[in-house]
Amino acid sequence: MNTPHSLYALSLDEIVHALDLEKRYQARQIQEWLTKGVTDFSQMTNLSKADRERFAFRMGNACSSNVIERQHDASGAAKLAIALHDGAIIEAVLLTDERARATACLSSQVGCAQGCTFCKTATMGFVRNLEAFEIVEQYIHLQRESAEAITHLVFMGMGEPLANTSEVIKSIETFHDPNGLNISLRRMTVSTCGLAAGIERLNAERVAVKLAVSLVTADNRLRSRLMPVNKRYNIHELKDALIAFQRVSGKRITIEYCLLGGVNTDEVNAYKLADWLEGLDALVNLIPWNPAEGLPYTTPSEAEIDRFVRLLERLGIPYTRRRSRGQAIDGACGQLAVSLNDLEYHLLTDDDEE
Ligand code: SF4
Repeated sequence: MNTPHSLYALSLDEIVHALDLEKRYQARQIQEWLTKGVTDFSQMTNLSKADRERFAFRMGNACSSNVIERQHDASGAAKLAIALHDGAIIEAVLLTDERARATACLSSQVGCAQGCTFCKTATMGFVRNLEAFEIVEQYIHLQRESAEAITHLVFMGMGEPLANTSEVIKSIETFHDPNGLNISLRRMTVSTCGLAAGIERLNAERVAVKLAVSLVTADNRLRSRLMPVNKRYNIHELKDALIAFQRVSGKRITIEYCLLGGVNTDEVNAYKLADWLEGLDALVNLIPWNPAEGLPYTTPSEAEIDRFVRLLERLGIPYTRRRSRGQAIDGACGQLAVSLNDLEYHLLTDDDEE
């Protein structure tokens, strides 16, 4: 086995091979250090000095990425810019709520190929998928910034997680490993722009995470204009995949509805949304669009949002409406930018546990 970039997201056997270990228990010791966020071999004090030096000589550090910039805001949110082993840069966000629960918002790709017209990340285009270890390392870096243990994860940063499903599932398994970080699947949310095939795969592999879907509109034609993914999986195919997922998971689905001024906030959109939601147990999360330079949208006024909210109420659509928090640290991506709101939503509504 070639020396890997990172020891994260490796099995014990893979660590044994990567470091030419004689005993399997040494891999277990190393994994325990990694779980605690210790990646400098010289600090792994229960290994022999000779081994520590050998491992450091072989691969430098057990972690492949570095934090190159940190931003914190008054709400306790933090955003990190992280340089990967090949020089690519991604972002990860930490949010802590008033109950001191900490959530990590993780990127799954460098850039994104989905081309949502309201999203800043889309303008970067797609660079590459992240590997599972690069997803897990974001958590490790964020944990170092947090006074509290990070207990909740959302795949809502840069990129579309279900366009990188294999590595995202592998990272979920690593996060969930009872011998490692041991994070409950119920505390992980995958947020997708609507890749129905990815939802079907999560379902087939019984990856029992929560699901959030960025819908933006239930008007099929309008959605195809706003989100090219709708030409591959239209709103009917998307809904079929969600119903099948919900049948197995039994979990309520979050529908992210990014409010675009004068675009998706009228009566027609409200009625179409009500129709589309029929038969789904879902909560609509209303998120006013966060301005991003160069994109042809506006944030709706409070009056416009109020009108849309009244329509939803009249139609009996369950919704949440969050006012912006943590906007001082703007996200890299349209979805990440709004996710500071949305993270708050997840923190506040994560009620089917404990
Ligand atoms: S909103 Fe999400 S899926 Fe759409 S382009 Fe942006 S990062 Fe990609």
